Amino acid sequence: MRKVSADLDERCGLRVRRVVDFEGFAAQWEPSLYFLVRVQTSEERRSIEDLQSTGLDNLAWVVSDQLEIGDIVVARPFKGELIVLLRESDTHHALFLTNRCNSNCLMCSQPPTKEDDGWLVEEALEAVRHLNWHPQTIGLTGGEPLLLRASLRRVLDVIDKSLPQTAVEVLTNGRLFADASVVPEVLSGLTTKVRWLVPLYGHANFLHDFVVQAPGAFDETIDGLLTLQEHQQEIQLRSVLISPVLEVLPELALFVARNLPFIREWALMGCEPIGFALANREACELDLVAWGATLEQTRRVLRTYRIPHVWMNTPLCALPQPLWPQAQKSISDWKNVFAPECEGCAARQNCSGLFAWHERGWKPAPLRTMETTEVNL
Ligand code: SF4
Repeated sequence: MRKVSADLDERCGLRVRRVVDFEGFAAQWEPSLYFLVRVQTSEERRSIEDLQSTGLDNLAWVVSDQLEIGDIVVARPFKGELIVLLRESDTHHALFLTNRCNSNCLMCSQPPTKEDDGWLVEEALEAVRHLNWHPQTIGLTGGEPLLLRASLRRVLDVIDKSLPQTAVEVLTNGRLFADASVVPEVLSGLTTKVRWLVPLYGHANFLHDFVVQAPGAFDETIDGLLTLQEHQQEIQLRSVLISPVLEVLPELALFVARNLPFIREWALMGCEPIGFALANREACELDLVAWGATLEQTRRVLRTYRIPHVWMNTPLCALPQPLWPQAQKSISDWKNVFAPECEGCAARQNCSGLFAWHERGWKPAPLRTMETTEVNL
């Protein structure tokens, strides 16, 4: 989530608000929504305070050059900052629904907590209600969103109603779809167009269960995938490229091809060097270039069985060139950076680049500036 420092009206509170400019707020104002008016001068600020004193308590002012008009924000006054929940100019849009999870993946970028954080669902619903633009796709993430059961369905239904043109992607480990009581709560009569992003880390229970640190997870995930297929739901399978996964990747590709041919796509993803990945460095830190032969072998299996696949969070210089056409610019805008080596690189425009925190963690490979002749996407 993008954090922004700002000089903030103390009446802002913890509410979700839409950022508007001083000239435009009157046209957008309605009593059921909350607005944060970006002011430039002390006169504009006083005008907002005058309106507040007449009873317009859904207005607050902010001074910040880091906010964009149309941002959906929430204040964390105790930290003196604003969180930008949604920004129109971003390529990727996501709402964070819970920090609780029933797995403990070795490379989890968002280590789970146990506290009740049901307020996050209300915050997400408010964010959707305050939107005055339509994201092409919105991701719902956690934690494990399926733990929310009926509340997840509530979010899906609200998006379907308020943003009918928006596609939804739910990042879930899928395990709770093995629970017959969860399936009707989430899937029965669902009309929202959802793509379920479900990770799989091995072709046998001990492999997958080790990576997610949860006994029984492999069987539940396979059960969940079959349940989604039964309900004609679109699935993107996901695998993060850490050592225990790379060691069996071609075999996992064969397993996917033979047993899960109904998936829409398989995303093979570079590891985000943050969270549990930093604590499990021996499994997570690696040089993707050294695994090039494994990646090419995996690609051959996937091409043989015609399994659509993409490489995500993987800089082009870390991949064998035959993989480049399937490499995506996948890192969310607010955490995407390039390194000094990328200056003048001919591949930069098509490259995923790096996670912003690679400096505290690691790069997925030693970077190599590409020559113009090497780029052939
Ligand atoms: S040098 Fe930078 S821009 Fe070029 S391929 Fe590598 S990571 Fe991408």
